[in-house]
Amino acid sequence: MNSDTDLRLIQSLRKIVGDKNVLVRTEDVAGYVVDWTSQFKSQALAVVRPVSTKEVSGIVKLCAEQGIAVVPQGGRTGLCGGGVPILDQPSVVVSLTRMNAVRSIDLGSRTVVAEAGVVLGSLHEAASANDLVFPLFFGARGSCTLGGNLSTNAGGSNVVRYGTTRELCLGIEAVLPDGSIVNGLTGLRKDNTGYDLKDLLIGAEGTLGIITAAVFKFFPAPTSRATAFLSVPSLSAALQVLNRLQDHTGNGVEAYEYMPKPAVDVICKVFPEIRRPLDDPFETGILVELASSRPHDSEQMEDGSVRLQSEVIELLGDMMEQDLVLDAMIAQSDQQRADLWRMRESILEAITKNGPVYHLDLSLPLQNVAAFVEKMDPEMARMGIQPLTVGHLGDGNLHYALAAAEGRDWDNLQIEAAKEAVFDCLLELNGSFSAEHGIGQSKLQVMSAMKEPSQLVAMRAIKSALDPKNTMNPGKLIPS
Ligand SMILES: Cc1cc2nc3c(=O)[nH]c(=O)nc-3n(C[C@H](O)[C@H](O)[C@H](O)COP(=O)(O)OP(=O)(O)OC[C@H]3O[C@@H](n4cnc5c(N)ncnc54)[C@H](O)[C@@H]3O)c2cc1C
Repeated sequence: MNSDTDLRLIQSLRKIVGDKNVLVRTEDVAGYVVDWTSQFKSQALAVVRPVSTKEVSGIVKLCAEQGIAVVPQGGRTGLCGGGVPILDQPSVVVSLTRMNAVRSIDLGSRTVVAEAGVVLGSLHEAASANDLVFPLFFGARGSCTLGGNLSTNAGGSNVVRYGTTRELCLGIEAVLPDGSIVNGLTGLRKDNTGYDLKDLLIGAEGTLGIITAAVFKFFPAPTSRATAFLSVPSLSAALQVLNRLQDHTGNGVEAYEYMPKPAVDVICKVFPEIRRPLDDPFETGILVELASSRPHDSEQMEDGSVRLQSEVIELLGDMMEQDLVLDAMIAQSDQQRADLWRMRESILEAITKNGPVYHLDLSLPLQNVAAFVEKMDPEMARMGIQPLTVGHLGDGNLHYALAAAEGRDWDNLQIEAAKEAVFDCLLELNGSFSAEHGIGQSKLQVMSAMKEPSQLVAMRAIKSALDPKNTMNPGKLIPS
């Protein structure tokens, strides 16, 4: 604490949220000012933990009046440094984790109103208790929060069927940078009454306001599933396989994950207890899951399997005859399914533990994914780089992690040149340099270089109209 002004600010914050919900001691604040990747370490005047929208509004108003930056924070699993303060502006972190109530569930319209600090996994449980599902699904679900999911427009494994967080949300309650509250919790599925603030706030990474609650859609819970690990001859074949599965099951594919051999090798090396799903040789691996809530699909067949699974097995058999699928392992039990997903979800940890790496989160039009990989993998190899790729292939998203190839020294690699080659290829193929993780602090440079200038101008105009003092999560998302 440096000055009388800071002390007065802390006292005012304590009046709003109570003494114990304003953290100022270095050791108490420490965990809130470092991001998941440990790349961004910062500091804050205080961490404030409000429990209501009114308290959030009071905090934001106070900080706006005093020109103090406000940094909204959820579960701190973001991968781009968006949820920690920048160093060159005095900041207050607003942690939403105490706003963790599921306010109401409407079983008739299959919607839920939940606060921003609800952990994603808790919403899964709330849906499941009502025989429904909330289909946003990825590895950080035990820690990330709904406010963070909305603010990063999180994706994950089920986007191929249900869309990103944006498509799961029907309305938002938020506090704007001047402290005013907007209440969009009506749950309307149609509301053409002007600019959609909900869609502005989703994916804004906390730069336009603090989301305090939202209305989400629930969906029927699947009663049958088929989960398999496939070896396919190429990524072009993988796209044909996806479409055949979709055609045959009425868009039944819930997840379609790219898991090529180098990624599986690293997982099995770092976690030796994880078993390879298929014997070698395989190069292009796919983890696919189909699901259905139709009673017809969960009927028991003579051989004891359920109809959906038998149909998928038959279809895979046809595709094997046509050399579209080379090999397949079908999960025969919940345990085998869980093992396949454990393998998929271990990848980020495995890659991180394996050695130095540079993470790229890319997306491409589905028909261009194969061209990207076929061009970039050999080019990276020439540069001594081994891409450790996994991806949500069903929606064209590749997590393209650049690591040192066998026998190469990371410190001598030309990572900047490699990134440039990747970005050039993305431009050629109409791709995006950030598919689902956002921009935060880590991708400001590439945002500046690659985002269409007219879009940046529009984004800056929106930001300065809503946040003229630039106090709402400054230094994130929009390059200065
Ligand atoms: C193991 C692992 C796997 C992951 N897999 C995926 C994946 O498959 N798909 C995917 O999309 N992401 C993935 N992520 C990234 C991350 O989990 C998501 O970005 C998640 O949505 C962040 O939520 P959070 O609550 O942790 O947000 P935080 O990290 O706390 O914050 C993220 C951003 O949102 C802002 N923010 C947080 N709460 C609010 C609020 N209430 N109002 C306004 N702004 C707010 C912050 O300021 C920051 O800019 C993964 C992360 C890990 C660690």
